[in-house]
Amino acid sequence: PSVSTAIIGAGIAGLACGQALHSAGLAVRLFDKGRGPGGRMSSRHLPGAVVDLGAQFFSVRDPAFRRRVTGWQEAGHVDLWPDAFWQVTETGWKRHRDNVERFIGTPRMSAVTRRLAEGLEVVTGTRIERLEEQAGQWWLVDQHQQRHGPFAQVVIATPTPQAAALLAEHEPALAETCEAVIQRPCWTAWACFDSPLPSLPGVDDDWQAVRLDPGHDRAADPLRFVTRNDHKPGRHGQGESLSLLARLEWSEAHREQEAEAVARQLLDAFRERLPQGVTLPEPSDLGAHLWRYAQPDVFAAGEAVNLDYRRSSSGLALCGDGWRGPRVEDAWLSGHHLGEALAVDAP
Ligand code: FAD
Repeated sequence: PSVSTAIIGAGIAGLACGQALHSAGLAVRLFDKGRGPGGRMSSRHLPGAVVDLGAQFFSVRDPAFRRRVTGWQEAGHVDLWPDAFWQVTETGWKRHRDNVERFIGTPRMSAVTRRLAEGLEVVTGTRIERLEEQAGQWWLVDQHQQRHGPFAQVVIATPTPQAAALLAEHEPALAETCEAVIQRPCWTAWACFDSPLPSLPGVDDDWQAVRLDPGHDRAADPLRFVTRNDHKPGRHGQGESLSLLARLEWSEAHREQEAEAVARQLLDAFRERLPQGVTLPEPSDLGAHLWRYAQPDVFAAGEAVNLDYRRSSSGLALCGDGWRGPRVEDAWLSGHHLGEALAVDAP
């Protein structure tokens, strides 16, 4: 193939971009610092359970994304979920109904990105720290000072702050644009139990996900969302486990806190919102993960977002949720559109 492209970041945006280039017959290699692809759609394997730590489900609006999701659904990589969605308001637990179709990877969220990685060359465990330009070609330098390349072009498909660091030396104006797209942090905790959760009065035993409205003091309220991993498609038979997602304001204020203390606070916050008289068993495993760059603040970014992706004349390009909006669909669209544009312009 005539054009070689490096993609830094194998989250859904980098993978969608890679797939678009690969389908056009172009050579592409992806690099990710993680142990596998997936980024914010990854799942953690614990001794008794597989828990999703990032996105818990995603919705579909765009027709091209819908076609792709339908294909994944037919192949068994995604399923509709949840169908027992609850909400906790000041008056207690009630069914949450909004007619929005939501999907989840099966048997775990990362099944979607695993599927997208098929057929692509993905180099994992490799953090790209620097880019070097030589005679119009690009080299990538990793954490061991090993050089990868040369490549005709480089796509940076990481959260915007990480992209800014790589760009600063070569494209200072673009690096500044990246810095304007703030990515807010989010804590996600998990709690595993040896026995099933107790029944909640007035709530179906098969409740799957619950959104918690903020209390009076939003900033002091830790918890926004809880899902039951063993109630997700393809995961029946594993032990009871919860994913507990913190509010962004709270995560920001507690980003330096110990993971264990955070996990405890999120679980305690859930206990407080259970119907009266219900006690939760002690978890057999409890922990938390901080996403430093969880969600782009599209309002703060103003005009920087809704551009889909960015390209420079020097052969660098940017995609990811920071350029469109805070959802899986936005990230996929950003990467897919960039990949299509690069394929059209390939010599
Ligand atoms: P990422 O998935 O972050 O991928 C970027 C990749 O780049 C990562 O794999 C990272 O390891 C890699 N990387 C970064 N720097 C380097 C480097 N220097 N060298 C090599 N690799 C590097 N969306 C929804 O639609 N619905 C939801 O319910 C939802 N809930 C969410 C809950 C949480 C807790 C979080 C964190 C996100 C949630 N999202 C949700 C958002 C959604 O997950 C993201 O918008 C989407 O996954 C972003 O994809 P991406 O490819 O742009 O970035």
